Amino acid sequence: TMAQIKLQNVQDFYEIGEILGSGHFGQVRELRERAGGTCWAGKFVKLRRSVSSRLGVERKSVEHEVEILQSLQHVNIMALRDVFESRAEIVLVVELIRGGELFDFIAEKENVTENEAIDFLKQILKGVGFMHSKQIAHFDLKPENIMLSDKNAEHPEIKIIDFGLAHRFDAGEDYKSLGGTPQYIAPEVINYEPLSVATDMWSVGVITYILLSGISPFQGDTDGETLRNIVDMKYDFDEHYFSQTSNMAKDFIEKLLVKNPKERMTAEECLLHPWIKPITNKQKANRSRSSINMKSFKKFNARRKWKMSYNMVWACNRLCRLHLLCKGDKEDEQLRSCESDQEDTETKPASLIRRRLSSSS
Ligand code: ATP
Repeated sequence: TMAQIKLQNVQDFYEIGEILGSGHFGQVRELRERAGGTCWAGKFVKLRRSVSSRLGVERKSVEHEVEILQSLQHVNIMALRDVFESRAEIVLVVELIRGGELFDFIAEKENVTENEAIDFLKQILKGVGFMHSKQIAHFDLKPENIMLSDKNAEHPEIKIIDFGLAHRFDAGEDYKSLGGTPQYIAPEVINYEPLSVATDMWSVGVITYILLSGISPFQGDTDGETLRNIVDMKYDFDEHYFSQTSNMAKDFIEKLLVKNPKERMTAEECLLHPWIKPITNKQKANRSRSSINMKSFKKFNARRKWKMSYNMVWACNRLCRLHLLCKGDKEDEQLRSCESDQEDTETKPASLIRRRLSSSS
């Protein structure tokens, strides 16, 4: 059933609670349904006031995200419940996801076997496979967008979030885009070639690589270097980080980090790969003997969290500065010039990729 866009006030139906998170669009807050008391999450998206403004999000792109979420009803994808719309903002009422990010959950553990990692990976692949079966690509798969429903459950459920860059392909359509996060984007994005659902599978390969080793396969000292490593396919399985990893796992990753998108495994093929779905007892035993490089993974995650908050502070400072500089009618014009000054200082290839504030590497 499609969620009807309501023109009423969200507060007539839901009590607004604490802030759960924030993105480039605005805030995500807890909502409590007045009738019944069920809890939800509300994504409050400030709408752009005029065509020339750079503040807020264009109504069309929010409608696009709503349309995509409406067609994705799957246990491993964040569910959309309701949409409220006013002149200034759109509120998406979505399933409340209490378990935090998968990577944080894993980083808190003492030891994690490949078996346990595969349990989560399988759910990611099921969610991704479902959207791909609907010709929808996510285009921003990364640890920040992979959450857990409830970390205290015996088998926590994966929930994929943030469909802000997602796209539904029409038959025969040529779609190009430069969106994404340097560490996780596929070579075809950097080369500005036509994209497909296979672009997501590259990101699944990068996420799996990090999950097992605690290092990022293409990470350079700068975003520019990272992007160059990706197009040059410069990665390996350093024994120092991969000594506890099974050969099956490496084979799985190798079949995803393939330059030609047509030759990458699909989500369905991944679910049939012997590492994910072992056929022999020997394969099964290998998986429970091999484990995640926890020491390295914890380090990766701590650095990732530190960068995320650093980027947030940086973004807030910059916004405050812009607001002080840009008062009155000239607001939009000056905002544009402020922002272009900023872009000039960035390295060339990195500046081509749309940077997302909470997620740049
Ligand atoms: P970004 O700017 O990071 O690309 P975004 O602006 O599209 O992302 P989301 O990623 O959808 O926004 O949400 C921002 C943050 O809010 C998330 O990182 C998460 O911490 C929190 N969040 C989002 N959806 C939910 C939810 N359904 N339940 C609980 N918390 C959520």
